[in-house]
Amino acid sequence: MTDDEVLAHLRKHYRAANREKFEGILPEDYHIEWNPLLRRLTGRITYGLRLIEISTFHFRSYGYQDAVATLEHEMLHLYLYRRGLPSGHNHHFKREAQLRGIRVFHSNDYKRNQQPRDRWLYECPSCGRMVFRQRRREGQALACGICCRTLADGAWDERFCLRLVRMVRMV
Ligand SMILES: [Zn+2]
Ligand SMILES: [Zn+2]
Repeated sequence: MTDDEVLAHLRKHYRAANREKFEGILPEDYHIEWNPLLRRLTGRITYGLRLIEISTFHFRSYGYQDAVATLEHEMLHLYLYRRGLPSGHNHHFKREAQLRGIRVFHSNDYKRNQQPRDRWLYECPSCGRMVFRQRRREGQALACGICCRTLADGAWDERFCLRLVRMVRMV
């Protein structure tokens, strides 16, 4: 999926979550955008601009479900704000977060003082599982352990050889 497509999914999720988790009291027309510069925070809300920003950086490191968790977190700030309640990370926030299955914390761990590490990302052509490896593999190709176990009696099987997708920089 392209970043724009992911954003379209997040916007759709906003509307669905508004109905399902926030009694539909959030504005329909809030802006949801990527912010490529947010590093410490996973996301941010600016009421004056009617804007929720999601960190591109955290999305790249932690994936779509993480971006959804961030979005719902920001939506909870907005929910409290709309109800005229203090909207920081206070006891209201924590209680409502728990009731709605929303993440309280605002940042993912990332190590500031470490060199970025490169990983090779592989995909199983059969089950689609993604696997990270430290080195690019030479010689006999790696095969998907799950597919070999379940579909080939545990033997290495070339049908399940992992395909190299790309190199990924883990930050
Ligand atoms: Zn927050
Ligand atoms: Zn597999």
